[in-house]
Amino acid sequence: MVYNYVTMKYKKTIIFFLFLSIIYWFFFFQAEKIQTLSTFPWMQANIQDVVWYEEKNLDFEEINIISNSWENINGLYLSGTKNETVYYFHWNGWPLPYFYSEIKYIHDLWYSVFAFDYPWYGKSTWMPEIEKVWEFSKDFFEYIKKEKNIQNEHLIIWWYSVGTAVAVDFASKNDFLKIVLVSPFASRYDMWKRWFFNIPPQKLFFMENSYITSEVVKNFSKPALIIHGNNDFIVPFSQWKQVFENYAWEKSFIEIDDYGHNWIIDNYGGILKNIFTQFISDNPLDFQYMILNQEKIQLLQQENQKKEQELSFFSQDFLTDNSVTKYVSPENSFQKIDYEPDDLVKISSEYLQDVKGNQTLRQGAKTYLDILAKDFHKTFWVPLKVISAYRSYVYQVGIKSWGCSDIFCAKAGYSEHQTWLAFDMFEASTESEFLQKEDLRKYFSWMQQNAYRYGFNNSYQKWKQIDWYAVEPWHWRYVGIDFATYLWEKNISFWEFYNNYILKK
Ligand SMILES: [Zn+2]
Repeated sequence: MVYNYVTMKYKKTIIFFLFLSIIYWFFFFQAEKIQTLSTFPWMQANIQDVVWYEEKNLDFEEINIISNSWENINGLYLSGTKNETVYYFHWNGWPLPYFYSEIKYIHDLWYSVFAFDYPWYGKSTWMPEIEKVWEFSKDFFEYIKKEKNIQNEHLIIWWYSVGTAVAVDFASKNDFLKIVLVSPFASRYDMWKRWFFNIPPQKLFFMENSYITSEVVKNFSKPALIIHGNNDFIVPFSQWKQVFENYAWEKSFIEIDDYGHNWIIDNYGGILKNIFTQFISDNPLDFQYMILNQEKIQLLQQENQKKEQELSFFSQDFLTDNSVTKYVSPENSFQKIDYEPDDLVKISSEYLQDVKGNQTLRQGAKTYLDILAKDFHKTFWVPLKVISAYRSYVYQVGIKSWGCSDIFCAKAGYSEHQTWLAFDMFEASTESEFLQKEDLRKYFSWMQQNAYRYGFNNSYQKWKQIDWYAVEPWHWRYVGIDFATYLWEKNISFWEFYNNYILKK
């Protein structure tokens, strides 16, 4: 009787625990699989996706290779013109074709790029178990490295979200140049514990932590750029902190204000373009922490515009004789040594005093010189005195034969005056003589402040590299308003621009 009573009393409890234990054992045996498939939610490519992205005109080479354990690895390679090659690890949920826009983005920055699909994704086979994923990333890299002749010292590792999991293994075992981490997570424990009262459920099933980015990066000794949205609910923003703080080397962080997890590159790639390029190809970034909010976006937009304008200067024509930015120096003569332009006009006008009476300049230069002279006159109530404008080839041969030294008179065919875009103002034979006169000093200082607005640049400036010509405050050369403004803002001479930026490119 007593026995029965006890049985009845605990029967429900026993059944309950029995039930719990069945559930536990079910999950115990499935835990590894659940973890794998939740890290890499299943999604295989269907043909429609691929067709859709093919319309994006991404002209890549599709690669299928057989892994060490006889599985198919599907991936792609795109050749770029820069030295660096990016190994891109995509995020989960979708197969590779979904990330063509990100791959294209990297390729549009002129880098070579390659990427593979994780096991069970797209056309790749098997299951995304930790060892298999590692094997795929290694085998695919070794194949590309050999086929495309890639050096580890030019290798950029770029991972996004779950790509972290895959790339972190790879990066810990292979040398590379730099690393880009977009929305990285700290570890698998960290990804799960926030749903279970801060205890990783893996512990219940005696599973060790894995993909521990926050630990592995302690051993990295290459620069990193980390990017994370501060409104990310998939990989909480706090996780970057562990990764960032533990990262043992040079690092920069971009916090994207009020943004979540996906499509960061699609949405912010344009604005971050120069930052990526600078990080990958040039100097270390000049910030450690940047908050990308509306205000910063505007600032970056302005900077990007400037940069684009700068690039347009880089592609200007410095060689053709009649180019407004023709570069002339003791080493750079005219292509046609006795070049003479065909758009010459007489320079004398109301506000311009031509001391020789018959001098000419090219039409464009003369137009702007007139406006300059008018404003000059408004300020000083004297006309702008032009001592010497053009010097034809024949004229230069003449003055050289009278014995004018090389630092004052260029060799025939090597003078800026032969562009018919330059002029010398007021009389003086040396810089100190020129600047001793109070009025000339004032004129010069006005020109220094204003001439660029009319497209003129002082070619031979003090404290700047100017070949081995003497400093000439009187010598001004028309180069166009945009370029003159650019030189003025940068505070560099034409020589410095040409030799430091153009020749070294
Ligand atoms: Zn001159």
